[in-house]
Amino acid sequence: MPWMQGYPYYLLLGSVLTLYMGVSSHKYRKTPGRRYLWFLMLLISCIFAVTAAEIMSLSFHTKLWWKNVQQVPLFLSTLFTYAVIKDYVSRSNEGLSRRLIYFSIPVVLDVILIFTDSFHHLMRSEVSVGTVAGVSGIVVQPTLLSMGFIAYDQLFGLYAAYLLLVSLLNAPKYYFRRNSLLMIGLMIPVVCSFLLPILKITITGFTAFTYLPAVLATYFSLFRDARLSIYPLAKSEILENMKDGIILTDRYDIIIDVNEAGHVMLSDLIGEMPETWQGRSIQPLLELHLEIGYNYTQRSEGQFEIESPRSADICYGVSLIATDQTKTETTGMLIVFSDHSEKKRYERELLHQATVDDLTGLYNRRHFMRMVQSHGIQDGAGMALLLFDIDDFKLINDTYGHLAGDQALVNFSQKILKVYKNNGIAGRVGGEEFAVCFFASNERAALEEAENFRAMMSDHVCILDEGQSIQLTVSIGIAFTEHSNVTYEDLYRQADEALYLSKATGKNRVTLGGQPIPREAIKG
Ligand code: GH3
Ligand code: MG
Ligand code: MG
Repeated sequence: MPWMQGYPYYLLLGSVLTLYMGVSSHKYRKTPGRRYLWFLMLLISCIFAVTAAEIMSLSFHTKLWWKNVQQVPLFLSTLFTYAVIKDYVSRSNEGLSRRLIYFSIPVVLDVILIFTDSFHHLMRSEVSVGTVAGVSGIVVQPTLLSMGFIAYDQLFGLYAAYLLLVSLLNAPKYYFRRNSLLMIGLMIPVVCSFLLPILKITITGFTAFTYLPAVLATYFSLFRDARLSIYPLAKSEILENMKDGIILTDRYDIIIDVNEAGHVMLSDLIGEMPETWQGRSIQPLLELHLEIGYNYTQRSEGQFEIESPRSADICYGVSLIATDQTKTETTGMLIVFSDHSEKKRYERELLHQATVDDLTGLYNRRHFMRMVQSHGIQDGAGMALLLFDIDDFKLINDTYGHLAGDQALVNFSQKILKVYKNNGIAGRVGGEEFAVCFFASNERAALEEAENFRAMMSDHVCILDEGQSIQLTVSIGIAFTEHSNVTYEDLYRQADEALYLSKATGKNRVTLGGQPIPREAIKG
């Protein structure tokens, strides 16, 4: 057949084509499902080239040498077909490279035995040059041992076919086309390795051509077909670059996928920093964060917030989503962590602004009232409310200026905080008016407390930033009650009246108001 004269060149063409595809897919070598594919293509390119060399060599020994060299990529290609499929169908491939090394050990042994066969003849019972359709190559009669090695190698091809078939049945519809194409392509060399001997097709290098559909199918389905490959590629790109941490677990609570942000957040929450969380158990997270643990084990979907154990400033929003609609305990879970630290900080800031007086850092009037009301007055537990009003404060403003007045207010507040921080509730209820509420055993104790404070203030000299020293005095009104039917308003009214009396009777003094009468009683 005249066209057969070009046979070695067809092989070389096949070699160049697969080499091109292998090299151009090298840039995807870190993408899951494509990690080993580029290498498989290079191996096939070698099979083509070395087979061409075998055919084109003239002497028997050179031909045999090339034939032997060919065995290396030939055996490895089946192993790598398995690796490609394994990597493609399962996202968690921890330890696959290590397994590949172990699986290659018999291949290395096989190759060594082939190269040294002329000494021990363990692998081939006969070696000759055969010419079929004008193509002359080495023809070998394999021994049982050699066939054992071949069978071992082919097992990987069959296992790969099985994996792909299972994934074809289970994968979402979206992947069906791509999986079918891959399945057909990759199975051609596997099937041919069984079929060619049966059909007695013995043309040297024909095996190499059986790989061509596999290479083309994988190359076009995984790298070139935009509709098939761009979406998953873009999806993984989006997931990797997301600020939210995405963690996917399987039904055995093993993390089968985690993006970059998820990795960082998991490390923060668990307090460990492994190289990868993929393939590890989610249990440590569930044990350390009981709210997640509870919802996770129930497979209940939910959203809540948790704080980082490292810092109360770091806060995560957690969403749990069952990956299966049935939500049984055999379902994997999707855990999404969002960084809520900024939101939390903003909320705290808002809360602070709404409750605390800017200038003095004491509670503002509204919050002071709320705090006192929420405390409530209980029968038998005496409660005292003290109202403070700085004397002649207007004069201080007029004499030293408004800023100096501010400083004096801050100074006064610090005094109040120092005395009442741990045993009362203190607030700024007006411009230069303050209030303190605390438990007191009786009126006398409250009066004494207020008198002590007044005396301390009248002795106190406040030094301003400008260096001036001013002395403040304060008038105080006290209301005291032991009755739970007295409201905060009743108490306040009474203290206010007492304060008015302190002012009217010469300032810098304390007045104890009468027992507050509940408003209800007044009405009645
Ligand atoms: P009295 O002894 O009767 O209480 O006299 P007083 O001057 O303290 O009372 P008055 O109610 O007449 O004046 C209160 C002054 O407090 C008037 C106001 O300018 C001043 N003031 C209120 N809030 C602030 C503030 O935030 N900063 C400063 N610097 N002054 C304030
Ligand atoms: Mg006043
Ligand atoms: Mg005043």
